[in-house]
Amino acid sequence: MAEQLIKPDLNFVKEIIASGGETLKKCYQCATCSVVCNIAPDDKPFPRKEMIYAQWGLKDKLLANPDIWLCHQCSDCTAYCPRGAKPGEVLGAVRKMAIKNYSSPSFLANIVNDPKYLFVLFGIPIVIFLVIIGALGNFSYIPKGEDGGISLSKFIPPLYVDIVFVPTAAFAALCFVLAIRKYWIDMRKGVDSAGKAISNLYPTIMDILTHKNFKKCDVTKDRTNAHLLVFYSFIGLAITTTIGVFYLYILKWDAPYPQTNIIKLIGNASAIALLIGITLVVTNRIKNKDKAGIGGYFDWLLISIIYGVVATGILSQVLRLADISLAYPMYFLHLVFVFVLFAYAPFSKMAHMVYRATAMVFAKATERDVEVK
Ligand code: SF4
Ligand code: SF4
Repeated sequence: MAEQLIKPDLNFVKEIIASGGETLKKCYQCATCSVVCNIAPDDKPFPRKEMIYAQWGLKDKLLANPDIWLCHQCSDCTAYCPRGAKPGEVLGAVRKMAIKNYSSPSFLANIVNDPKYLFVLFGIPIVIFLVIIGALGNFSYIPKGEDGGISLSKFIPPLYVDIVFVPTAAFAALCFVLAIRKYWIDMRKGVDSAGKAISNLYPTIMDILTHKNFKKCDVTKDRTNAHLLVFYSFIGLAITTTIGVFYLYILKWDAPYPQTNIIKLIGNASAIALLIGITLVVTNRIKNKDKAGIGGYFDWLLISIIYGVVATGILSQVLRLADISLAYPMYFLHLVFVFVLFAYAPFSKMAHMVYRATAMVFAKATERDVEVK
């Protein structure tokens, strides 16, 4: 058998510990976790091997390992680990580091995941939208709609919103493409052959749409419904935005739209579902905190931003309908939260959707015959 040189990275071990994997060293490799994990396949189990990679600081093996993303952090393994090593949380910490590792530009990942720089994350969109409002002269004059009521589209016209959000979305998409390309190349180094990614897209999308793997979890079963609600709410809001673009740029029909219009029905239903879904995410975390951990800044930042998006969105509409001028600052805040959610998505926990989908495609393309060398 060929000799293998193992190069441990002790700083990497320290980083995992600092990122939420502080229980890592308790693992004594009993493999209970791999046995109880309903998601890990019998012939390629995890997370026992990931625990030893982490203890030994085998950074390259761990970060390029698709199994870290196949884990859905259901915490069955954490609940049964006889040593309290919390493998579910260790893998959560490793995923966070994988996002940082593959992100381009990498400094943004450090900024997004460090509470010290929270003011920068929010400061950028605050300044952008304040400049737009100032340039339109809307600090001194409160614009009104044709009916004399509040008009959010006159306060910050959709064209200006799009001038900010289209390049922002393009930037986020480019960052995702660069990161996923690097991740795929690294995963590919670990296997002898892989099928075509494209032919495995459809079954992966079906797994995601049905949350097939989430449903295999035992300890945090309730997470499935919460996650499904959040997931489909985002799809509903994406459909709402697409209809909005069609109305505005094809039909030349500007907001506000009647509450009975399809755009309002889908948008409002999605916003309420998102509010319920994210609230369930929080209550489940609190309920399962002893078994699954409560999460860290990385998790709570995304939860808080989603709350910010949905609360300011609902409130700006309610205040507008009630003709209360507070609708204007509320709409301003809504745009700030939406910017923070999407502009930093490749560097925040939001990125997990893309990395996990990629790992799922890769696992199918390699028929789970993944051997990280
Ligand atoms: S993490 Fe816990 S269950 Fe898994 S191998 Fe280590 S000690 Fe055993
Ligand atoms: S957290 Fe759940 S999915 Fe992840 S390794 Fe543990 S048992 Fe498996």
